[in-house]
Amino acid sequence: MYGYNHGRFTSPDPYNIVLESQNERNKEKAREKLTAYLNKPQQWNRYTYVINNPLSLIDPTGEILELTGTEEEKKYALKLLRDSLGEAGNNLHLVIDGGHTYVTYVNNGLAASGGDYGKVIEEIIDSTTSVEFQVTDNDKVKFSDGSVQSFSTYGGAITRAMSGTHIQVFISKTAETTANELFQGKMFGEDGSQLRANAETIVSHDMGHAWGMIKDDFYNKYTSLWGYQSWAKSNLVQQNQNRSVQVENMTRQRLGLPKRQKHH
Ligand SMILES: [Zn+2]
Repeated sequence: MYGYNHGRFTSPDPYNIVLESQNERNKEKAREKLTAYLNKPQQWNRYTYVINNPLSLIDPTGEILELTGTEEEKKYALKLLRDSLGEAGNNLHLVIDGGHTYVTYVNNGLAASGGDYGKVIEEIIDSTTSVEFQVTDNDKVKFSDGSVQSFSTYGGAITRAMSGTHIQVFISKTAETTANELFQGKMFGEDGSQLRANAETIVSHDMGHAWGMIKDDFYNKYTSLWGYQSWAKSNLVQQNQNRSVQVENMTRQRLGLPKRQKHH
């Protein structure tokens, strides 16, 4: 199939996971093959050699969770994502190619070890919507539509569904401080106590926004900037905010912290 002129695929590699995945129409089977492959680190050097299209490798249908920013920022983003998952974070694995860094999971996925929140991250990775995750030092972040926003008014984390492109989750490296300053005395638990934010609750909160956007089909429903703006004015925002609190509370429960009452 891939002849001399197709470059890297001409290698006489005995096992080409990229082609295997591309040829596998059944999504479950494609993932099984990829997972089996990723669980054998001794084969990875081959992977870096044969890889041509990482999107096809991760999922023939295009699912993706991508880390962006500098190398240091990507490392930090993976750390925060892992921390937010607890033990299950060890099952996250990076696939790196041509300046792109994708997150996928190995072993039995994340739900078995990470409970409900593990399942949320698994669903984000498995969804056909691409999700970008960035943890940055910059106070201002630029969205796909070109708009620039400051973290300070959002407690250090922003999630946006960029119509026709993807979902973007941005978290400031100083999010913990920013959130606790902004919401001091204003964030309450179900037990009435005053709550504080930490890095893990912030990450899970914003992954909750992204998950809600995917799960409630907001992203697919609106395919233009106008559509996004319509969504932003609708009562669907409330529904999405409930999702973020629901997911944040999964992490609060794991950490033995009081559950949060509601979104602001
Ligand atoms: Zn929120």
